[in-house]
Amino acid sequence: MLESKNLEIITLSENTAGGRRGILAEWGLSMLVKAGDRHILLDTGGSVTAAHNADVLGVDLHQVETIVLSHGHYDHTGGLLSVLAGVRREEVEIIGHPDIWRRKYSKTKKSRSFRYVGIPFSRDALESLGARFTLTSDPTWITEDIVAGGEEPTATDFEKVADTLYLKEGGQFIPDPLVDDQSIFLKTDLGLILLLGCAHRGVINILNYARELTGMEQVYLPWCFTLHRPRGRGTPIPGIWRALLLQ
Ligand SMILES: [Zn+2]
Repeated sequence: MLESKNLEIITLSENTAGGRRGILAEWGLSMLVKAGDRHILLDTGGSVTAAHNADVLGVDLHQVETIVLSHGHYDHTGGLLSVLAGVRREEVEIIGHPDIWRRKYSKTKKSRSFRYVGIPFSRDALESLGARFTLTSDPTWITEDIVAGGEEPTATDFEKVADTLYLKEGGQFIPDPLVDDQSIFLKTDLGLILLLGCAHRGVINILNYARELTGMEQVYLPWCFTLHRPRGRGTPIPGIWRALLLQ
């Protein structure tokens, strides 16, 4: 069990910037988990913000030995190149679901065309900077108390993957079930801490899955996450709130 006093979680990139001068914000996410001598990065932001902010905050990326990708969207993977350049290791393990490499697009009802929103780099370019991909849909236990959860089951009837997200396959656009969505679960003396990416598969689905996988009941959701509505904007999401209040 991780002792919370030895645990530090640093947000390196998100869509607001406060506090220290020189911090940059952008649409995307990157969080560093420091647990004793282990340094694990969840996502890399959308471009250069994670590497830049690490520099401003005095965080040494060289100590990062594992990167977990919560899914293959650009706002979580677009910082890979600059982060890997900052890590400067011969090899860095990158844990992700095999589907992170599928061709991902988005299109809202108002937009005229499909926009590419997948990983903006080739696998070769990343591997040339030391990336070593571990691609699996199963949970990956990084330590005995830290797990990259792997593929999350969808069980609730009030959570749906957004209908604006697509995969391109054989020249056709098909709905993206986001099976690559995964989160990090930390077993601590306070309880189970969940670090979510976009929670595309639904926060209650992830929460229930995390409890089942780890056998821990007490759960902390310390960061914001996206509540995905089953239909368009403005649709109430009472099922999710009710489920959260009942936890
Ligand atoms: Zn996403």
